[in-house]
Amino acid sequence: MPVCFDVAVVGGGAAGLAAAITAARGGATVALCDRMPRLGKKILITGGGRCNLMNEDLSPKYYTSTDLDLVDSVLGRFGKKAIRDFFFGLGLEMISEDGRVFPATNQAVSVLRVLEIEIRRLRVAVELSFEATAIERAGPGFTIDAGPGRRIEARKIILAGGGKSYPALGSNGSGYSLAQGLGHHIIPPVPSAVPLVVNDPMCHLLQGQKWRTRAVALIDGNPVETAEGEVLFTQYGLSGTAVLDVSESLSIAHHRQGKKKIALSLDLVPFLSRDALAVEFVRRMKAKWADADLTAGLLPEKFAPLVPNFLTKGEPDANKRAIGLAEGLKDKRFSVQGTRGWNEAEFTSGGVDAREVDPGSLESKHQPGLFFAGEILDVQGRRGGYNLAWAWASGFVAGQSASEKENGVASTLSTKKWKV
Ligand SMILES: Cc1cc2nc3c(=O)[nH]c(=O)nc-3n(C[C@H](O)[C@H](O)[C@H](O)COP(=O)(O)OP(=O)(O)OC[C@H]3O[C@@H](n4cnc5c(N)ncnc54)[C@H](O)[C@@H]3O)c2cc1C
Repeated sequence: MPVCFDVAVVGGGAAGLAAAITAARGGATVALCDRMPRLGKKILITGGGRCNLMNEDLSPKYYTSTDLDLVDSVLGRFGKKAIRDFFFGLGLEMISEDGRVFPATNQAVSVLRVLEIEIRRLRVAVELSFEATAIERAGPGFTIDAGPGRRIEARKIILAGGGKSYPALGSNGSGYSLAQGLGHHIIPPVPSAVPLVVNDPMCHLLQGQKWRTRAVALIDGNPVETAEGEVLFTQYGLSGTAVLDVSESLSIAHHRQGKKKIALSLDLVPFLSRDALAVEFVRRMKAKWADADLTAGLLPEKFAPLVPNFLTKGEPDANKRAIGLAEGLKDKRFSVQGTRGWNEAEFTSGGVDAREVDPGSLESKHQPGLFFAGEILDVQGRRGGYNLAWAWASGFVAGQSASEKENGVASTLSTKKWKV
């Protein structure tokens, strides 16, 4: 007869680690399982290997969800001070850059190390290479199965299996099937913070070029999201921070809503107004500058051969030509054909419908004793530390709620040697 834990956490990523630590600190016996051979693989690649673990300006307004009250409630219980204190208490020194919080070591591995040390200290039972394939009700609790001879029994379960992005690091979407099996509705997941596929010769010609722009996402011609930052021209289309920042609404429109008229507008000269740019072009044209020289000193050299594409052919009036060129560069439109796939998406938009989860405890409204934490829920934050902040905060709330509800219930501890 296998041991029965108070709480079993499925998924040892950011949210699962925070949930397991919190539940164990609350006095529960805790099992933490992950389908990968090690915990927290995704944490290691976050923030370009530096782990942007939070943002100082933490507020629900930077999130989207089917239930923003839930985000409000969770961040109200475990906000930026609590996240800081949590990591500080684990021994992690942090630094802040423009509000984005990183470990002082600038190494994501430092974040994972302090979490793993605490998991060991709390004697959380860790099961690795354990892919939960079925969760079933068993009496007052649950069984979690991962193939023949591999079963965990627990009174409460926290599902923290993540979304679908970067499946090689563990989150392959199987958490959604488990949630569905327990009666939950899944908002169709789409890749978010993802490069865009664009069929425009300009991308091909400028391949490898990075440039600071203002990007505007357009759906049916209407602006829906704006971001300033870098764009990277690639063989397949557009990437870079500004593009990733506005990709969510375009990805939802394309993949979930099947919209055809989706586009990205780039302001290639964001540091000059349209009028100032036109005045400068008039000056250059009147001084008889060659077409390919018109953007010299304004745009990188790779743009020079493209200038004629922005000029109205046969237009003799320098003012009109200059205005046309300025307008073309301030609002260069790219028709978006789609997005890159899950291997390049930093985040998943969609997941377990947040309205089916109690905002105060993160407990399922369908299955008492089942809790959710992290990216598996339909909650998505802006880039800049918001998604990890959500993982820590929701992990804390789920872990605390699951262990609170255990108060007074005796549990049996195994003598089995767990891998920690
Ligand atoms: C390249 C990249 C960079 C990023 N950088 C940042 C950043 O700097 N700041 C930020 O805020 N966010 C960042 N993010 C987003 C952030 O990493 C995620 O939102 C966060 O890690 C989600 O945590 P999670 O625990 O919910 O899910 P995950 O980290 O995906 O963890 C889920 C875990 O569950 C396990 N699992 C899944 N299914 C099962 C199953 N059936 N049985 C057992 N185990 C299972 C997986 O193996 C995995 O370990 C980045 C993401 C990527 C891809």
